[in-house]
Amino acid sequence: MLTLISAKPQNLSPPLSFHFPLFPFSPTSSLSFHPPLKNTLRLRIRSIDAAQPYDYESHLRTQHLKSQSLKIAILGFGNFGQFLAKTFSRQGHTLLAYSRTKYTDTAKSLGVTFYNNPDDLFESHPEVVILCTSILSTEKVLQSLPFQRLKRSTLFVDVLSVKEFAKTILLKYLPVEFDILCTHPMFGPESGKNSWDGLPFVYDKVRIGNEEDRISRVERFLDVFAKEGCRMVEMTCAEHDRHAAGSQFVTHTMGRVLERFGLESSPINTKGYDTLLDLVEVTAGDSFELYYGLFMYNKNAMEQLERLDMAFEAIKKELFGKLHHVYRKQLFGNADEGAEDRPKVQKLLHNGAPPSADAVKPETS
Ligand code: NAP
Repeated sequence: MLTLISAKPQNLSPPLSFHFPLFPFSPTSSLSFHPPLKNTLRLRIRSIDAAQPYDYESHLRTQHLKSQSLKIAILGFGNFGQFLAKTFSRQGHTLLAYSRTKYTDTAKSLGVTFYNNPDDLFESHPEVVILCTSILSTEKVLQSLPFQRLKRSTLFVDVLSVKEFAKTILLKYLPVEFDILCTHPMFGPESGKNSWDGLPFVYDKVRIGNEEDRISRVERFLDVFAKEGCRMVEMTCAEHDRHAAGSQFVTHTMGRVLERFGLESSPINTKGYDTLLDLVEVTAGDSFELYYGLFMYNKNAMEQLERLDMAFEAIKKELFGKLHHVYRKQLFGNADEGAEDRPKVQKLLHNGAPPSADAVKPETS
């Protein structure tokens, strides 16, 4: 509706208003419209945008947002589920959630409809279901879900921090009609609390139907993260697990070791020490169950733990070796100097077998 208000006199009530048909019409054509006026009033248009009979721009924007928005169900509304919901909600998606604990109030404050049982949630027919439960409970949760209540074209997404296990188990339990997208946002409520800009988001399109609407739905879901500035990384679940064991699992392990060690802030913290304190804080925010899941369900984790152990031993050996050298010097003084030239025998080579003749040759340099 275009509202024309007279500048003079002010006592005209109600203000003159003209109703225009919706189409065909353009914002500019409205400005050149001159209705016959009985008294010669000077008319001034106060607000073009608000007064448009049909605010085409905002209509287009609303239409676009609607077409991009998804009906997303979050299964497992704990630490990470709630963290994701904040951003999904801000972006205008319709959110539903189910968890074994009742999070009704928290959900309400985040604009999420909370369901007390998965049957009711699934009967609301979300387009996307995100599995945000702990790694350890995944199989049990999947076995208990009433998939028959969902639409056959539902997109199932997981955010588990281990990916090969997630892929295997989703393929095992989900109906074949469902699409499967395995993802791992490589950040959490601590590291991503201010922004997701530049943070890695790993995904693997494990099984997506050929239909255009299925393809575009996955893209719309991925766009949720891309829009926040995430660094989108497409890689296989196996590749993810290899990289994650060497980076994420090691990070969590060091954070937990230092937490046990009992780091405390001091008045003379160096920058490096502050980094360690931050690491402890970030890892302490995650449940032990999550850490245990990283270890149990990533086959590469054990090797990394052993490497850490060996590295720690090697550092200790190097330090103690130097200390031993100084100690011997103090004990034996110069009398021990020739010891360096004596043949070095590595006694426990070959699982304790006697050293070969080569191994006892004196070192020449
Ligand atoms: P978590 O301890 O790994 O999982 C907690 C969630 O699992 C809660 O929603 C909890 O439900 C649910 N749960 C645990 N045991 C269950 C069971 N037996 N039956 C049903 N539900 C059960 O902590 P989280 O940080 O929230 O992580 C959730 C998922 O996100 C995990 O798969 C994790 O690998 C992934 N992830 C986490 C982060 C992170 O930074 N935290 C980052 C990326 C990915 P209730 O609360 O209702 O008990």
